[in-house]
Amino acid sequence: MSLTPFKLLRPRTLDEAISYLDKHANNVRILAGGTDLIPSMRQKLFEPEFVLDLRHISELRGIREQQGGGVEIGALTPLSEIEHSELLRRRYPVLTEAAATVASPVIRNMGTLGGNICLDTRCLWYNQSLTWRKGCGFCIKKDGDLCHVAPGGTKCWAAFSADTPPALLCLKAEIEIVSPSGRRRIPLQDFYTGLGDSYRKLEPSELVTRIFLPEDTADFRGVYRKLRIRGSIDYPLAGVAVVMKNSNGQIAEARVALTAVNPAPVLVKGATEAISGKILTESLAESIGDLAARTAKPLTTSALTPEYRREMIRVFTKRALMAAATN
Ligand SMILES: Cc1cc2nc3c(=O)[nH]c(=O)nc-3n(C[C@H](O)[C@H](O)[C@H](O)COP(=O)(O)OP(=O)(O)OC[C@H]3O[C@@H](n4cnc5c(N)ncnc54)[C@H](O)[C@@H]3O)c2cc1C
Ligand code: SF4
Repeated sequence: MSLTPFKLLRPRTLDEAISYLDKHANNVRILAGGTDLIPSMRQKLFEPEFVLDLRHISELRGIREQQGGGVEIGALTPLSEIEHSELLRRRYPVLTEAAATVASPVIRNMGTLGGNICLDTRCLWYNQSLTWRKGCGFCIKKDGDLCHVAPGGTKCWAAFSADTPPALLCLKAEIEIVSPSGRRRIPLQDFYTGLGDSYRKLEPSELVTRIFLPEDTADFRGVYRKLRIRGSIDYPLAGVAVVMKNSNGQIAEARVALTAVNPAPVLVKGATEAISGKILTESLAESIGDLAARTAKPLTTSALTPEYRREMIRVFTKRALMAAATN
């Protein structure tokens, strides 16, 4: 599958990148590691006239402790650097664990945290070649007007399938977004729309520059569990992140988030209230597993059945909670 010709823009500074975005906003795609963008461009899911390559902007890389507490991570930081960061492993272990499960070591060397957060949603009917999609009459997400997964509906249910966002949601991460009109900082939770097609709140002239982890979620125990077909290199088909802080033998605070079973990564509502102030028993972990399974809304967007993926959310949530309580 060949690439449609495009013009490559290679800014050296963030200001230069922003001025390119200002000029070409209507027909540009941002390239970070390119591990998802390039295969998608080969499949003709995107055919931009310009590709803005961020890889030479050194100010967008790195993991830094912030003065008032917490940690700042440049959007262009490779996932392998996150996986091997001693600072993150010590203070935000759920993030290093989730990053370490992405794809394979080679892809983690190329793929970035910003690219993982911005990753396109996935569906069996969408992540295919142009010929394949054409043979099926296309679909709402690209070039068509029907959904093969929920026929008769008008909505796209493609699944958000990145590993680090549920960990980041549990850690109450915020992201910085820069555009020609300035900077804004928002909770990651507010970044996703819950729609499979226009899945993120990001204008074509905007880019994600930094990720902030607050001090108040540092030192929480964390666990990430993931269902995938090939253990060595695969997207999640269901994923659960759990963070937990214990105090005097009880759980002071906990959060649970899911990925790959909805069009956005989601926090499990009610989990924090149900766990906080309690001692974690197997039956409590099981009831949070039930809550998580009710939050998951998988459809037939992947090779595994929705029923199995929902069941694995229940099982992984229970296991992750029990592991976080004892590790
Ligand atoms: C075989 C294979 C297996 C994979 N397995 C997994 C897996 O297990 N888990 C997983 O999470 N992912 C997986 N991926 C997907 C991908 O490798 C990762 O999600 C990676 O983190 C994407 O980062 P990137 O820097 O390469 O993004 P890119 O491919 O460069 O970009 C991805 C998307 O984000 C946009 N983007 C990138 N950076 C920014 C930014 N700073 N601001 C605004 N928009 C931006 C791009 O325009 C594009 O739409 C897999 C990919 C392959 C090919
Ligand atoms: S969920 Fe429906 S509209 Fe969305 S990508 Fe899949 S088939 Fe297309």
